[in-house]
Amino acid sequence: MPKKKAIVLFASAIPKKVDRDLTLPAKFQRLLDRMPIIERVNGRKVAIKMHLGGGLGYSTIHPLFVKLLVDHVKKGKPRSVFVTDGSVKNASDRGYAKETVGARLLPAVGTNGKDVITKRTGWTPMKTVEIGKPIADADVLLNFSHAKGHGACGYGGACKNLAMGCVPDSTRAKMHGLEGSLEWVRDKCIRCDKCIKECTSNANSFNKKGEYNIFWHHCRLCLHCMMVCPTGAIRIENRKFDLFQEGLARTAKVVLDTFKPGHVFNINVLSDITIWCDCWGLTTPSLVPDIGIMASEDIVAVDQATLKAIKTTDLIPGSITPPYKLGKGRHLFEKLHGKDPFCQVRELEKLGAGTASFLIEKVR
Ligand code: SF4
Ligand code: SF4
Repeated sequence: MPKKKAIVLFASAIPKKVDRDLTLPAKFQRLLDRMPIIERVNGRKVAIKMHLGGGLGYSTIHPLFVKLLVDHVKKGKPRSVFVTDGSVKNASDRGYAKETVGARLLPAVGTNGKDVITKRTGWTPMKTVEIGKPIADADVLLNFSHAKGHGACGYGGACKNLAMGCVPDSTRAKMHGLEGSLEWVRDKCIRCDKCIKECTSNANSFNKKGEYNIFWHHCRLCLHCMMVCPTGAIRIENRKFDLFQEGLARTAKVVLDTFKPGHVFNINVLSDITIWCDCWGLTTPSLVPDIGIMASEDIVAVDQATLKAIKTTDLIPGSITPPYKLGKGRHLFEKLHGKDPFCQVRELEKLGAGTASFLIEKVR
Protein backbone atom coordinates (compact mmCIF):
# COMPACT_ATOMS: atom_id res chain seq x y z
CA MET A 1 0.00 0.00 0.00
CA PRO A 2 1.39 3.47 -0.86
CA LYS A 3 2.47 5.54 2.13
CA LYS A 4 -0.20 8.02 3.26
CA LYS A 5 0.91 11.59 2.64
CA ALA A 6 0.47 14.39 5.14
CA ILE A 7 -1.15 17.60 3.92
CA VAL A 8 1.01 20.71 4.14
CA LEU A 9 -0.82 23.97 3.47
CA PHE A 10 1.28 26.57 1.71
CA ALA A 11 0.70 30.30 1.38
CA SER A 12 3.22 31.89 -0.95
CA ALA A 13 4.87 35.19 0.01
CA ILE A 14 4.70 36.29 -3.61
CA PRO A 15 1.41 37.93 -4.60
CA LYS A 16 0.30 37.47 -8.21
CA LYS A 17 -0.38 41.21 -8.45
CA VAL A 18 -0.38 44.25 -6.20
CA ASP A 19 -3.48 43.56 -4.16
CA ARG A 20 -3.63 43.57 -0.37
CA ASP A 21 -5.85 40.50 -0.41
CA LEU A 22 -3.12 38.55 -2.19
CA THR A 23 -0.32 39.38 0.26
CA LEU A 24 0.98 36.97 2.88
CA PRO A 25 -1.02 38.18 5.94
CA ALA A 26 -4.27 37.88 3.97
CA LYS A 27 -3.32 34.41 2.73
CA PHE A 28 -2.31 33.47 6.27
CA GLN A 29 -5.85 34.20 7.45
CA ARG A 30 -7.23 31.93 4.71
CA LEU A 31 -4.66 29.26 5.62
CA LEU A 32 -5.83 29.33 9.23
CA ASP A 33 -9.43 28.95 8.07
CA ARG A 34 -8.44 25.66 6.43
CA MET A 35 -7.16 24.10 9.65
CA PRO A 36 -9.54 22.76 12.32
CA ILE A 37 -8.17 25.17 14.92
CA ILE A 38 -11.40 26.91 15.93
CA GLU A 39 -13.25 23.71 16.89
CA ARG A 40 -10.24 22.26 18.73
CA VAL A 41 -9.55 25.30 20.94
CA ASN A 42 -13.12 25.74 22.18
CA GLY A 43 -13.10 25.97 25.99
CA ARG A 44 -9.46 24.93 26.10
CA LYS A 45 -6.13 26.37 27.23
CA VAL A 46 -4.03 27.26 24.18
CA ALA A 47 -0.25 27.81 24.06
CA ILE A 48 1.35 29.53 21.08
CA LYS A 49 5.03 28.56 21.15
CA MET A 50 7.37 30.94 19.34
CA HIS A 51 11.01 31.96 19.32
CA LEU A 52 10.85 35.59 20.42
CA GLY A 53 14.51 36.33 19.65
CA GLY A 54 16.72 38.72 21.56
CA GLY A 55 19.34 41.46 21.44
CA LEU A 56 19.45 43.30 18.13
CA GLY A 57 17.72 40.58 16.13
CA TYR A 58 14.87 41.75 13.92
CA SER A 59 14.12 38.67 11.82
CA THR A 60 11.75 36.78 14.12
CA ILE A 61 8.08 36.39 13.08
CA HIS A 62 6.47 39.82 12.64
CA PRO A 63 3.99 40.63 15.48
CA LEU A 64 1.22 41.17 12.91
CA PHE A 65 1.19 37.43 12.13
CA VAL A 66 1.02 36.63 15.84
CA LYS A 67 -1.94 38.99 16.23
CA LEU A 68 -3.70 37.35 13.28
CA LEU A 69 -3.13 33.92 14.83
CA VAL A 70 -4.34 35.02 18.27
CA ASP A 71 -7.44 36.65 16.73
CA HIS A 72 -8.17 33.42 14.89
CA VAL A 73 -7.79 31.31 18.04
CA LYS A 74 -10.10 33.66 19.94
CA LYS A 75 -12.88 33.01 17.41
CA GLY A 76 -12.98 29.50 18.88
CA LYS A 77 -13.62 30.86 22.39
CA PRO A 78 -10.71 29.18 24.17
CA ARG A 79 -10.56 29.15 27.97
CA SER A 80 -7.27 31.04 27.66
CA VAL A 81 -4.52 31.72 25.14
CA PHE A 82 -0.93 32.75 25.75
CA VAL A 83 2.22 33.29 23.70
CA THR A 84 5.28 31.58 25.12
CA ASP A 85 9.01 31.04 24.77
CA GLY A 86 11.80 29.92 27.11
CA SER A 87 12.15 33.56 28.12
CA VAL A 88 9.80 36.41 27.29
CA LYS A 89 12.07 39.04 28.83
CA ASN A 90 12.64 41.99 26.48
CA ALA A 91 10.23 40.51 23.91
CA SER A 92 8.60 43.94 23.71
CA ASP A 93 11.85 45.21 22.10
CA ARG A 94 10.79 43.28 19.01
CA GLY A 95 7.17 44.33 19.27
CA TYR A 96 5.73 41.36 21.19
CA ALA A 97 3.44 42.56 23.98
CA LYS A 98 -0.15 41.97 25.06
CA GLU A 99 -1.12 45.27 23.43
CA THR A 100 0.27 44.22 20.04
CA VAL A 101 -0.39 40.48 19.82
CA GLY A 102 -3.61 40.38 21.87
CA ALA A 103 -2.49 37.68 24.32
CA ARG A 104 -0.40 37.36 27.48
CA LEU A 105 3.26 36.46 27.15
CA LEU A 106 4.35 33.74 29.57
CA PRO A 107 7.76 32.10 30.02
CA ALA A 108 7.50 28.41 29.05
CA VAL A 109 9.33 27.33 32.20
CA GLY A 110 7.84 29.86 34.63
CA THR A 111 9.34 33.15 35.77
CA ASN A 112 11.97 31.40 37.89
CA GLY A 113 12.92 29.02 35.05
CA LYS A 114 12.06 26.05 37.27
CA ASP A 115 8.35 25.43 36.73
CA VAL A 116 8.97 22.13 34.98
CA ILE A 117 7.99 18.48 34.97
CA THR A 118 10.39 15.62 34.35
CA LYS A 119 9.68 13.02 31.68
CA ARG A 120 11.47 9.83 30.75
CA THR A 121 12.68 9.50 27.17
CA GLY A 122 13.48 5.77 27.14
CA TRP A 123 16.78 6.73 25.50
CA THR A 124 20.08 5.98 27.24
CA PRO A 125 22.12 9.05 26.15
CA MET A 126 19.52 11.37 27.70
CA LYS A 127 17.31 9.41 30.05
CA THR A 128 15.10 12.29 31.19
CA VAL A 129 14.13 15.75 30.01
CA GLU A 130 12.35 18.56 31.83
CA ILE A 131 9.62 20.46 30.03
CA GLY A 132 7.84 23.64 31.04
CA LYS A 133 4.69 23.04 33.09
CA PRO A 134 2.82 25.91 31.40
CA ILE A 135 3.30 24.02 28.11
CA ALA A 136 2.44 20.61 29.56
CA ASP A 137 -0.68 22.06 31.21
CA ALA A 138 -2.00 23.50 27.94
CA ASP A 139 -4.62 21.55 25.96
CA VAL A 140 -3.74 22.79 22.47
CA LEU A 141 -0.33 23.75 21.09
CA LEU A 142 0.27 26.07 18.17
CA ASN A 143 3.89 25.47 17.23
CA PHE A 144 4.60 28.77 15.47
CA SER A 145 8.17 28.68 14.16
CA HIS A 146 10.51 30.86 12.18
CA ALA A 147 12.52 28.79 9.68
CA LYS A 148 16.26 29.59 9.59
CA GLY A 149 19.71 28.03 9.65
CA HIS A 150 21.36 26.75 12.81
CA GLY A 151 25.03 26.28 13.68
CA ALA A 152 24.68 22.99 15.55
CA CYS A 153 21.90 21.23 13.64
CA GLY A 154 21.90 23.00 10.28
CA TYR A 155 18.27 24.07 10.55
CA GLY A 156 15.87 25.46 13.10
CA GLY A 157 12.13 25.05 12.53
CA ALA A 158 9.20 23.21 14.08
CA CYS A 159 11.22 20.43 15.75
CA LYS A 160 13.76 22.78 17.27
CA ASN A 161 11.11 25.29 18.37
CA LEU A 162 9.68 22.63 20.68
CA ALA A 163 12.88 20.86 21.69
CA MET A 164 14.90 23.91 22.65
CA GLY A 165 12.14 26.34 23.51
CA CYS A 166 9.85 24.38 25.85
CA VAL A 167 12.59 23.27 28.25
CA PRO A 168 14.73 24.80 31.01
CA ASP A 169 18.45 25.57 30.66
CA SER A 170 19.31 22.23 32.28
CA THR A 171 17.66 20.23 29.49
CA ARG A 172 19.07 22.50 26.77
CA ALA A 173 22.50 21.82 28.27
CA LYS A 174 21.81 18.06 28.21
CA MET A 175 21.01 18.24 24.50
CA HIS A 176 24.08 20.30 23.63
CA GLY A 177 26.06 18.01 25.93
CA LEU A 178 25.33 15.20 23.46
CA GLU A 179 27.79 16.93 21.13
CA GLY A 180 30.60 16.60 23.66
CA SER A 181 32.17 18.83 26.30
CA LEU A 182 34.02 22.12 25.93
CA GLU A 183 37.80 22.19 25.92
CA TRP A 184 40.10 25.24 26.04
CA VAL A 185 43.47 25.17 24.28
CA ARG A 186 45.90 27.55 25.97
CA ASP A 187 48.34 27.78 23.05
CA LYS A 188 45.65 29.06 20.74
CA CYS A 189 44.19 31.68 23.10
CA ILE A 190 45.09 35.32 22.40
CA ARG A 191 43.07 36.67 25.39
CA CYS A 192 40.75 38.79 23.27
CA ASP A 193 37.96 38.10 25.83
CA LYS A 194 35.32 37.76 23.12
CA CYS A 195 34.18 34.52 24.77
CA ILE A 196 33.63 36.32 28.08
CA LYS A 197 31.65 39.15 26.49
CA GLU A 198 29.47 36.70 24.54
CA CYS A 199 28.43 34.63 27.55
CA THR A 200 25.11 35.93 28.83
CA SER A 201 25.11 33.37 31.67
CA ASN A 202 28.21 34.68 33.46
CA ALA A 203 29.49 31.13 33.26
CA ASN A 204 33.03 31.66 32.03
CA SER A 205 36.07 33.57 33.28
CA PHE A 206 39.85 33.57 33.28
CA ASN A 207 41.43 32.75 36.63
CA LYS A 208 44.54 34.36 38.13
CA LYS A 209 46.73 31.91 36.23
CA GLY A 210 45.11 32.98 32.96
CA GLU A 211 43.26 29.69 32.52
CA TYR A 212 39.78 29.59 31.01
CA ASN A 213 37.22 28.32 33.51
CA ILE A 214 33.60 27.35 33.06
CA PHE A 215 31.21 27.36 35.98
CA TRP A 216 29.12 24.42 34.77
CA HIS A 217 26.25 25.22 37.07
CA HIS A 218 25.59 28.40 35.08
CA CYS A 219 26.71 27.13 31.67
CA ARG A 220 23.86 26.38 29.23
CA LEU A 221 26.26 24.83 26.74
CA CYS A 222 24.92 27.25 24.16
CA LEU A 223 28.39 27.15 22.56
CA HIS A 224 28.33 30.86 21.79
CA CYS A 225 31.78 31.31 23.38
CA MET A 226 33.13 28.63 21.07
CA MET A 227 31.51 30.11 17.99
CA VAL A 228 32.88 33.64 18.56
CA CYS A 229 36.41 32.53 19.42
CA PRO A 230 38.52 33.81 16.50
CA THR A 231 41.32 31.27 16.95
CA GLY A 232 39.46 28.05 17.69
CA ALA A 233 40.83 27.98 21.26
CA ILE A 234 37.49 26.71 22.58
CA ARG A 235 36.36 23.51 20.99
CA ILE A 236 34.48 20.29 21.36
CA GLU A 237 36.27 17.12 20.46
CA ASN A 238 34.50 14.76 18.06
CA ARG A 239 31.33 16.81 17.88
CA LYS A 240 28.39 14.50 17.49
CA PHE A 241 25.90 16.58 15.57
CA ASP A 242 23.73 13.63 14.63
CA LEU A 243 23.35 12.70 18.28
CA PHE A 244 22.41 16.31 19.06
CA GLN A 245 19.72 16.21 16.38
CA GLU A 246 18.42 12.93 17.75
CA GLY A 247 18.28 14.61 21.17
CA LEU A 248 16.24 17.44 19.61
CA ALA A 249 13.83 14.96 18.05
CA ARG A 250 13.48 12.94 21.26
CA THR A 251 12.76 16.06 23.31
CA ALA A 252 10.30 17.42 20.75
CA LYS A 253 8.49 14.06 20.85
CA VAL A 254 8.21 14.26 24.64
CA VAL A 255 6.62 17.70 24.29
CA LEU A 256 4.24 16.45 21.57
CA ASP A 257 3.23 13.47 23.70
CA THR A 258 1.84 15.77 26.39
CA PHE A 259 -0.96 16.69 23.94
CA LYS A 260 -3.85 14.54 22.76
CA PRO A 261 -3.76 13.54 19.08
CA GLY A 262 -5.03 16.34 16.85
CA HIS A 263 -4.26 19.05 19.40
CA VAL A 264 -0.98 20.31 17.88
CA PHE A 265 -0.77 22.58 14.84
CA ASN A 266 2.61 23.38 13.30
CA ILE A 267 3.07 26.61 11.38
CA ASN A 268 6.44 27.50 9.84
CA VAL A 269 7.15 31.02 8.61
CA LEU A 270 9.64 30.94 5.75
CA SER A 271 10.69 34.57 5.59
CA ASP A 272 13.89 36.34 6.64
CA ILE A 273 15.66 33.00 6.32
CA THR A 274 19.03 33.76 7.86
CA ILE A 275 22.15 31.70 8.38
CA TRP A 276 21.89 31.56 12.17
CA CYS A 277 19.29 30.89 14.81
CA ASP A 278 17.35 33.79 16.38
CA CYS A 279 19.01 33.01 19.74
CA TRP A 280 22.12 34.89 18.63
CA GLY A 281 20.36 38.21 19.05
CA LEU A 282 21.42 39.45 15.64
CA THR A 283 20.15 39.44 12.10
CA THR A 284 22.19 38.91 8.94
CA PRO A 285 20.85 39.19 5.36
CA SER A 286 18.23 36.74 4.14
CA LEU A 287 19.85 33.88 2.24
CA VAL A 288 16.94 33.35 -0.15
CA PRO A 289 13.86 35.40 -1.06
CA ASP A 290 10.89 35.06 1.31
CA ILE A 291 8.96 31.88 0.52
CA GLY A 292 5.78 32.07 2.58
CA ILE A 293 4.07 30.07 5.33
CA MET A 294 3.65 26.30 5.62
CA ALA A 295 1.33 24.59 8.08
CA SER A 296 0.40 21.05 8.97
CA GLU A 297 -0.86 18.94 11.83
CA ASP A 298 2.15 16.75 11.03
CA ILE A 299 5.40 18.16 12.45
CA VAL A 300 7.61 15.88 10.34
CA ALA A 301 5.88 16.86 7.10
CA VAL A 302 6.02 20.59 7.80
CA ASP A 303 9.77 20.56 8.52
CA GLN A 304 10.46 18.29 5.54
CA ALA A 305 8.44 20.56 3.23
CA THR A 306 10.13 23.66 4.64
CA LEU A 307 13.61 22.28 4.08
CA LYS A 308 12.72 21.19 0.55
CA ALA A 309 11.51 24.71 -0.26
CA ILE A 310 14.80 26.36 0.80
CA LYS A 311 17.04 25.86 -2.22
CA THR A 312 20.68 26.67 -2.95
CA THR A 313 19.64 27.75 -6.46
CA ASP A 314 17.65 30.62 -4.87
CA LEU A 315 20.64 31.92 -2.90
CA ILE A 316 20.74 35.73 -2.98
CA PRO A 317 24.19 36.88 -4.17
CA GLY A 318 26.17 38.54 -1.37
CA SER A 319 23.89 37.19 1.39
CA ILE A 320 26.45 34.90 3.04
CA THR A 321 28.18 36.63 5.93
CA PRO A 322 31.97 35.96 6.13
CA PRO A 323 33.69 33.76 7.24
CA TYR A 324 30.89 31.46 6.11
CA LYS A 325 31.01 30.14 2.57
CA LEU A 326 29.38 27.39 0.59
CA GLY A 327 30.96 24.00 1.19
CA LYS A 328 29.89 20.45 0.43
CA GLY A 329 26.43 19.08 1.03
CA ARG A 330 23.07 18.44 -0.56
CA HIS A 331 21.15 21.24 1.15
CA LEU A 332 21.95 24.95 1.42
CA PHE A 333 22.12 24.66 5.22
CA GLU A 334 24.44 21.66 4.97
CA LYS A 335 26.73 23.58 2.61
CA LEU A 336 26.87 26.41 5.18
CA HIS A 337 26.98 24.51 8.47
CA GLY A 338 28.34 21.11 7.47
CA LYS A 339 25.41 19.27 9.07
CA ASP A 340 22.62 17.40 7.34
CA PRO A 341 19.53 19.38 8.40
CA PHE A 342 17.19 16.47 7.58
CA CYS A 343 18.65 14.36 10.39
CA GLN A 344 16.22 15.72 13.03
CA VAL A 345 13.29 15.17 10.63
CA ARG A 346 14.29 11.54 10.02
CA GLU A 347 14.64 10.95 13.77
CA LEU A 348 11.22 12.43 14.47
CA GLU A 349 9.72 10.23 11.78
CA LYS A 350 11.42 7.14 13.28
CA LEU A 351 9.86 8.06 16.63
CA GLY A 352 6.42 7.99 15.05
CA ALA A 353 5.78 11.74 15.23
CA GLY A 354 4.65 11.92 11.59
CA THR A 355 5.66 11.30 8.01
CA ALA A 356 8.17 12.99 5.72
CA SER A 357 5.92 12.15 2.81
CA PHE A 358 3.78 15.21 2.12
CA LEU A 359 1.40 16.80 -0.30
CA ILE A 360 1.35 20.57 -0.75
CA GLU A 361 -2.02 22.30 -0.92
CA LYS A 362 -1.74 25.90 -2.01
CA VAL A 363 -3.69 28.61 -0.29
CA ARG A 364 -4.63 31.34 -2.76
S1 SF4 B 1 28.72 27.56 26.35
FE1 SF4 B 1 27.40 29.38 26.51
S2 SF4 B 1 26.83 29.48 28.68
FE2 SF4 B 1 28.59 28.07 28.53
S3 SF4 B 1 30.38 29.34 28.89
FE3 SF4 B 1 30.07 29.30 26.68
S4 SF4 B 1 28.82 31.13 26.21
FE4 SF4 B 1 28.68 30.76 28.43
S1 SF4 C 1 37.55 34.09 22.47
FE1 SF4 C 1 39.10 32.48 22.21
S2 SF4 C 1 41.00 33.57 21.90
FE2 SF4 C 1 39.56 35.06 22.77
S3 SF4 C 1 39.90 34.92 25.00
FE3 SF4 C 1 38.27 33.51 24.54
S4 SF4 C 1 39.30 31.54 24.24
FE4 SF4 C 1 40.87 33.11 24.10
